[in-house]
Amino acid sequence: MKLSVIVPCYNEENNIYPFYEALVQIFKDIYFDYEIIFINDGSKDKTLSELKKLFSRDNEHIHIIHFSRNFGKEAALLAGLEASQGEFVSIIDADLQQNPKYIIQMLTYLEENPDCDCVAAYQDIRKEGKILTFFKDCFYNLINKMTEIEIVRSASDFRTLRRNVVDAIISLPERCRFSKGIFSWVGFNTYYMPYTVEDRASGESKWSFWKLFAYALDGIIAFSTTPLVIASILGVILCFVAFILIFVIVIKTLVWGDPVAGFPTLATLILLSAGVQLLFIGILGQYLAKSYTESKHRPVYIVKEHIKKEKTSHDIINK
Ligand code: UDP
Ligand code: MG
Repeated sequence: MKLSVIVPCYNEENNIYPFYEALVQIFKDIYFDYEIIFINDGSKDKTLSELKKLFSRDNEHIHIIHFSRNFGKEAALLAGLEASQGEFVSIIDADLQQNPKYIIQMLTYLEENPDCDCVAAYQDIRKEGKILTFFKDCFYNLINKMTEIEIVRSASDFRTLRRNVVDAIISLPERCRFSKGIFSWVGFNTYYMPYTVEDRASGESKWSFWKLFAYALDGIIAFSTTPLVIASILGVILCFVAFILIFVIVIKTLVWGDPVAGFPTLATLILLSAGVQLLFIGILGQYLAKSYTESKHRPVYIVKEHIKKEKTSHDIINK
């Protein structure tokens, strides 16, 4: 098998057919064998029946993994990567924001450049609000400063990987999966290819501002322990300042017999230190929660139904 295309789908009933049409249109002149793995991530609409309709038309190429509930895009990507058989694996969204024509460009680049292991598409023009761009830039600055990995701005999950990269990614056993970080953490040579993101064909994005915010925090916690170091350093600084203050106050009281004063200062300092303590207990809690989740060793996803054509011995010989 030359190419596997992984397509995570969550409530994409109106996009499945146009997406498939656009993809096979691109693939109509190619000479190699390919598979399209759709992961139905617990959709609540008719995505599954749309996928089954497609399967009845083209069971040669289509493969459906149907989750028992919504496990999130990260879980869908992992399921797709684990099921993929291709020498090359492309990841693409189902909503036609990413034109499938780029898959051929990515593949051609990989074939022409044996040293390159992965081609990742990045948005050359961002089609989003200025405020969102500002927060995303802050996130990239922060995560790149705090971690040993380098996450390229605007690089998406839309990419084509060689089999060795796929094997490296699925060998990571973690449950809390932050793909942007994992792609970078496994290393290999990546070429960043500019692409123009299109408007969603139908439906709505599943990413609200707060979901993105939580995802960004997950990413930082999954790849960096710097927040804990900051907590410790700030704790030391505050203790140092407190000792100096105690010293000054005791001397003032002993030498000049100062009456009790400075209540507002005291109240502010108590509030400040309580706030800082709570903040860092919260950060500590985040790490604890992540290791608690990891320690349960629950699977990342549960498959309810696996729909693919059973291979005959003839198919296997010709693979
Ligand atoms: N998706 C998924 N599970 C989810 C959320 C999203 O499989 O819980 C899929 C979705 O169907 C789409 C892709 O992930 O194919 C990207 O989602 P979306 O378009 O909402 O993200 P955006 O393009 O806005 O970043
Ligand atoms: Mg989208």
